[in-house]
Amino acid sequence: MRAGSDDAWAQRFTLMIQPPKSEDDWDEYKTSLFGAREDEYTYKFNYPPQEKDLVIRTINRAIKELNRASCDFANAGIKVISTLETPPIWPQDPCSPSSSVKFYTFSQKGQEFPLTLPVTVAPLFGPLSCDTIYVRIHRKWKPLKEWLLSIALPHNYSPEVAMRRCWDRSGMVFPLMELPPELRNIIYEYALGPEVYPLSRLSRMTRNDSFTDDEARRGAEIVFGIGYSDLGMSRHYPYPHDIGCESRSKVAPPNLALLQVSRAVSCEALKAGWEGTRKCFIEPTMFTEVVGSRVGPASQFNCLSRIELNFTHSAWFGFFGVSVSPEIEMSEGRSCGPFLMDLKTLKELHMRFRSPNDGYSGCPWAGRSSGSYNNSVVDNACQRTIVDMIMTFAFPFVKQIPHVGVTGFVKTTAKMHWEHVLRQDYTGKEHGHDNDAALEAILKTPATLLPPPCDCPQSCVASNRDRYRSTGNYVHIDAYENFAFDDEYVASV
Ligand SMILES: [Zn+2]
Repeated sequence: MRAGSDDAWAQRFTLMIQPPKSEDDWDEYKTSLFGAREDEYTYKFNYPPQEKDLVIRTINRAIKELNRASCDFANAGIKVISTLETPPIWPQDPCSPSSSVKFYTFSQKGQEFPLTLPVTVAPLFGPLSCDTIYVRIHRKWKPLKEWLLSIALPHNYSPEVAMRRCWDRSGMVFPLMELPPELRNIIYEYALGPEVYPLSRLSRMTRNDSFTDDEARRGAEIVFGIGYSDLGMSRHYPYPHDIGCESRSKVAPPNLALLQVSRAVSCEALKAGWEGTRKCFIEPTMFTEVVGSRVGPASQFNCLSRIELNFTHSAWFGFFGVSVSPEIEMSEGRSCGPFLMDLKTLKELHMRFRSPNDGYSGCPWAGRSSGSYNNSVVDNACQRTIVDMIMTFAFPFVKQIPHVGVTGFVKTTAKMHWEHVLRQDYTGKEHGHDNDAALEAILKTPATLLPPPCDCPQSCVASNRDRYRSTGNYVHIDAYENFAFDDEYVASV
């Protein structure tokens, strides 16, 4: 507690009334406690016997009201008790008035030194209510509730635990079904999303098969998945090495408890969860498996109207059937582009690009000369050029999608250029981009210019194999990230 604060002042009162144990008492205390540590002593306030007191009952009512109004307050678990064995101050006997002030001690959960304050009722002969009780702090009388709300509330529960405890204490319930349907949908979308990383049950069954046929994809149900975390992903994805490693916060797993509330809530939540959230994919195989599903949620809901594809550069190349040897070759037969064209209900696609700091192991040319990843071989490409290449490969397959966002580690000019070209193309307007010519130029690039070198004002080439470079211990390359989004943007203005 901060010295000089109202709370510290009230704690001093407590210690004046019941000082901490003396050293002699402390020795006795230690021997009475089996296993107590030599240097440990916890102050404990001994409450006197309590008698019936209408003021305490009224203060408790005020605490209850505030518990309902504030989750933090409810979690502090504030309790009140008579500090001393003195008679109640209310009701007063008009013929022989007694003291108008009485000490009360307010404790809260986990707080070692409770707060003690003089309390009065004003007017003393008037009615007793939460609003006629005053506490004295720093020689001034303050309304009880005002003071209660000024108490410091130290606790460190997670938001879910805080909310649950608060509801237990305040006895509140949340009438979900009385909310308008639009608001309920927002709640469902946040409980299950807003980002969903769907999984196909197929992957678990055929983890080791290199071949997945259409029929198998069609018959496998999709599920809401487990959110996003490095560890979880490597367990559930068929090709974890294609995921790469992004420095980003975790996405909590969808809160499926909502589906067990009632039939009505479950039906609404399933629809909102599948249709109202963005479906995110971090490697191509899972995407093709989810797109291919024709049973379960995929047959009942419009699951894929908003999606994000967030692949490593290498996975993007593979997705569009592009290989490097080191020249660039494109095989239409191996392209997953047609999966995007089949998604007739797709309204919004985010194409996300990983940071060069996620390492050149995600680069299509990585390790080509050594046959395996090798820290001494830095075969990395210019981020600016490789994003242009991938967007060129993607163009024929994404131009029919109403909204395409180019996100992640993309130079601002490139983002503006590609989003503009795609929007113009979708609306049938002129954009000046000749994709066939751009693609031909890429496919004709001589091996000596591959991987594409970087001549950006600030280099956009990764110098580490992955985000965790080995220097005895794994060192996280913190990276949010010195990527120069605007180095050429400024120059071109
Ligand atoms: Zn560059």
